[in-house]
Amino acid sequence: MDYGIKTWGNDNFFIEDGKVKVNTGCEPSLIEIIQEIRKDGIRGPILLRFPHLIQKQIRMIYKSFSDAKKEFNYEGKFSAVYPLKVNQFPNFVKNLVSLGEKYHYGLEAGSKAELILAMAYNNPDSPITVNGFKDNEMISLGFIAEEMGHDITLTIEGLNELESIISIAKDRFGCVPNIGLRIRLHSSGIGIWAKSGGINSKFGLTSTELLEAVNMIRDANLLDKFTMIHFHIGSQITDIAPLKKALREAGNIYAELCRMGATHLRAINLGGGLAVEYSQHKTTLHKNYTLSEYANDVVYLLKDIATQKGVHEPDIFIESGRFVAAHHAVLVAPVLELFSQEYTDMKLRPKEVNPPLVQELYDLLGTMNRKNALEFLHDSIDHMESLLTLFDLGYIDLQDRSNTEILVNLIIKKAVGLVADKKLSEILDIQDRVQERYLVNFSLFQSLPDFWGIGQTFPVMPLDRLDEVPTRSASLWDITCDSDGEIGFNTETPLFLHDVDIKNRDYFLGFFLVGAYQEVLGMKHNLFTHPTEATIVIDDDGYKIENMLESQSISDILEDLDYDIKEVQENLNDRIEASDNISEKEKKHILGEIYLFLNDNGYLKTINNEDNVQ
Ligand code: PLP
Repeated sequence: MDYGIKTWGNDNFFIEDGKVKVNTGCEPSLIEIIQEIRKDGIRGPILLRFPHLIQKQIRMIYKSFSDAKKEFNYEGKFSAVYPLKVNQFPNFVKNLVSLGEKYHYGLEAGSKAELILAMAYNNPDSPITVNGFKDNEMISLGFIAEEMGHDITLTIEGLNELESIISIAKDRFGCVPNIGLRIRLHSSGIGIWAKSGGINSKFGLTSTELLEAVNMIRDANLLDKFTMIHFHIGSQITDIAPLKKALREAGNIYAELCRMGATHLRAINLGGGLAVEYSQHKTTLHKNYTLSEYANDVVYLLKDIATQKGVHEPDIFIESGRFVAAHHAVLVAPVLELFSQEYTDMKLRPKEVNPPLVQELYDLLGTMNRKNALEFLHDSIDHMESLLTLFDLGYIDLQDRSNTEILVNLIIKKAVGLVADKKLSEILDIQDRVQERYLVNFSLFQSLPDFWGIGQTFPVMPLDRLDEVPTRSASLWDITCDSDGEIGFNTETPLFLHDVDIKNRDYFLGFFLVGAYQEVLGMKHNLFTHPTEATIVIDDDGYKIENMLESQSISDILEDLDYDIKEVQENLNDRIEASDNISEKEKKHILGEIYLFLNDNGYLKTINNEDNVQ
C-alpha cells in the first residue's frame, strides 16, 4: 500500500523503512522532522513548507518552455508571473521571490493589497500583471508602480477601467503602465473551476468591446502602451483539449488586433490553470497531460497561427499558481482517537445468561476463521441491527447493548485482519460498512477548505508504519463541532489506515499538496486558525527548521474578531473573583490557568491520557 505516492507525489517523496521520506539531500523522514519540532512542546497540526519544492516547480516551468521554444524555433519570449491569490503567506512568497530571481519570475496581483505586496517584493526586471476589477485608486497604484520603475501591465476587465487609465494618465507624471485587454473567449475550461472562461464568464471584453477599446487607446495616443491580451479559462485545467481550443481563439484575436494596427501588441497571457495531480488512485486521475506537453502545445499553436496570419510570434506569459505552490506544503496532523478504540474484550461484561443473539455474537467471535470470516461478519452486523431494535423495544438492557457493540467491533477487527490479503473489490462493500472513524487534530475548514467547499480531494497517508498492511477503512473527523468536518470513506477512492492504540503510540497523517489556495481560503470556523508552520531547508548534511510560527493564541484570535481582550480578561477575572464555589487560594490558581489558556493556541492537546500529549 503506497497511497498512490507515485501518482501524485511528483517524485518529491518516497517510502523507505516504512516511512515517508523527502526525496532530496539527506532524505529525512517526515516523521523525524515532526518529532524534532514537537520536542519544543509544539502540539496540534503543523504545516511544513519545503522551499526546494517551490524551486523545482519554477525551474520545471522555465525549462519546459525553453525546450519547447528551441524545438519549434520560436522567436517570442517566455515570461511567467506568480498569482499572489494562490498563497500570500510571507514564508511562501519571500522564498518564491528569491528563488525566482534568476528567471525574472514576476508577480500577479488581483487586489490592492496584493498589488502593494507585488510592488514591495517583486524582483527587479521582473514583470507584474494586474487582473480583476479595479477602481481609480487601484489604477493609480498601478501608475505608482510604473513610476517606481516596475514593469507593470494593467489588464482591463471592462471599458470603464480603460477610461480611468486614460483619464489618470493625463493627470499624473508621464509614466503610464502597459495596458492589457482581457478577452472573453467562447472557449471555456473544464472541471470544477471552469467558470472563469466562456462567453458568460465574469471577466473580459467581447469582440465588440475589444474593437472599441483599441479605438479608445488609439484616440488617447496610448497605442505604444497596449502590449498584451489576456485570457484565463479556469484553474486546474484537467484536459488539454479546451486549452488548445482557447489558444486558437486567442491566437487569432491577437493576429487580428495586430493587423488592425495594434502596433505594440506583443504578448498573449494565458492566465493560470496548469493542473496538479491530486489523485491517489490511478482510476481517478485528475489531469491528462504533462507540463512539457502543455508547453509544446502552447508554443506550437501560437507559432502556427502567427505564421498563417503573417504576424510576429507573440511573447508568451503564463500565470500558473497552483502548479507552483501546491507541492511545497504538507499538513501533518496527529490522530487523537479511533472511534472503536474503546472496544476491547476487557470491557465486556458477560451475564450468566446472555440474550440468545448476544450469545450468538460470542460464538461468532470465538469460531471465526479465514474461511467463514465474511459470512460471520455479515451475520454479526445483522444481529446488531436486531439487538438495537430489541433495545428500543425494551427487551434487552444497556449492558446487553454495550456487549453487543463491543462484540461486533471485535468481530469486525478480527474479520478484517483475516481477509486483509483478499482482493480489494471482494471486500470493499464490507469495508464500507465497517469503517473506522479517526479523530484528527486539525480543522478541515481551516486547512482543506476546498474539500469542504467543492469536494476537491487531497492525498492523505500515514507518515509511518508503511511496511504494515493498513486494515481499517477510514473516515476522518476533524475537531470542529460541525459534522461537515469529515472526509468520509469512499469506495471509489478508498483510504485504509492502521489499527492503532493512540494511548501507546502516536499516529500522524500527512495531507499533501495543500500549498495552493488552502491556506488563505481557510476559515476560522469554531475559531481554529492557521496551524503552526515551519520551513524545512534540506541539504546533503542535514535539515534545518526555520521560520517557526506557532498557531495564533486564543487572545490573538479573539482580538482579530475585534474583541477587547482586556475586557474579556476583566470579565473572566471578575466572575472568578465573585464565585462562591472556590476559595481565595483556588481563585488565584484558576486565574493563572486562564492566563495560560488565553496565551495558548486553540488546537487540542490532550485526550484521555495526560501522558499522551498530541
Ligand atoms: N490568473 C488568473 C487571472 C486567475 O484568475 C487565476 C486563478 O483563478 C490564476 C491566474 C491562477 O490559476 P492557477 O492557480 O490555476 O494556475
